[in-house]
Amino acid sequence: MTPVSFFDASNTDRVVLRYRLSGEHGHAKQWLLSDFEIGRALGRGKFGHVYLAREKQSGYVVALKVLYKKQLCTHGVQRQLQREIEIQGNLRHPNILRLYGYFHDETRVFLILELAGKGELYNELQRQGRFAESVAAKYIMQMANALLYLHSQRIIHRDIKPENLMLDVRGELKIGDFGWSVRTASTESRRTTLCGTLDYLPPEMVQGGLHNENVDLWSMGVLLYEMICGHPPFEDEKGYIATYHRIVQVDLNMPGHVSAEAADLIRKLLQYRSVDRLPLRKVLQHPFIIKHQRSAQ
Ligand code: ATP
Ligand code: MG
Repeated sequence: MTPVSFFDASNTDRVVLRYRLSGEHGHAKQWLLSDFEIGRALGRGKFGHVYLAREKQSGYVVALKVLYKKQLCTHGVQRQLQREIEIQGNLRHPNILRLYGYFHDETRVFLILELAGKGELYNELQRQGRFAESVAAKYIMQMANALLYLHSQRIIHRDIKPENLMLDVRGELKIGDFGWSVRTASTESRRTTLCGTLDYLPPEMVQGGLHNENVDLWSMGVLLYEMICGHPPFEDEKGYIATYHRIVQVDLNMPGHVSAEAADLIRKLLQYRSVDRLPLRKVLQHPFIIKHQRSAQ
């Protein structure tokens, strides 16, 4: 993929658009805003809005995310966005939201994204309170498949939570938002500064230690618990310090309605030591997943 660059001064005098078609074609297309018909706003992001849009020539409907360069600079997130585009733009998996391309003008960066017709999983969970275990099992299976693919590409997502998971019109899960993801060398471990909520982070990250791809296994355990129980497991009304202590002690309360299989999978993912967490292939073979896979057929 062409190196991502939209803060290059030589580009700012005219609208420069870059787009690389999927690997088979291998040639770049430069897009213009006038290639799209803009529809209703789909949502509001930190740095701009997301609109429904139709590519005029093909009639293909996408989500167009508009980010204001000034705000990106104010928050110092240009590099992070470049990394996000480089990573997401190269991923091809049915459960990962496609980034078809990007372009920019003097003031804005535009991301051409696959449309997630049913929006965020977070909103669906808010509406329903909690999901039936069969529904949670389907999402965990799709997520495990997507993470297997990501990890095989040596990418750690590091920010799996309901706000970053989208649903397409058929209700299939799509991992979106690669803002915190990193590409690592095979044996490398990482250290990073945190921001945002602690709820989904594993002990090694809240303690500022080294971490590897097994952080995503922990977050998947948190997600499974939240989908079935309606709230994340270590959330504490006393605030983030209390949450911190609950995470490092793996202080897990399992409500009575959680089935034995679901509880077992949650416990096997929420292991303090990252090497002890159930690997993705074993998640896919776990009785909780198998049971619901059978009944869905
Ligand atoms: P935040 O960090 O506050 O979540 P953000 O900058 O990451 O903001 P997004 O979460 O990507 O922005 O987008 C904001 C909203 O736009 C989402 O909550 C969602 O409702 C909608 N949206 C984003 N991408 C898509 C998409 N591909 N398809 C449909 N709706 C989308
Ligand atoms: Mg977001």
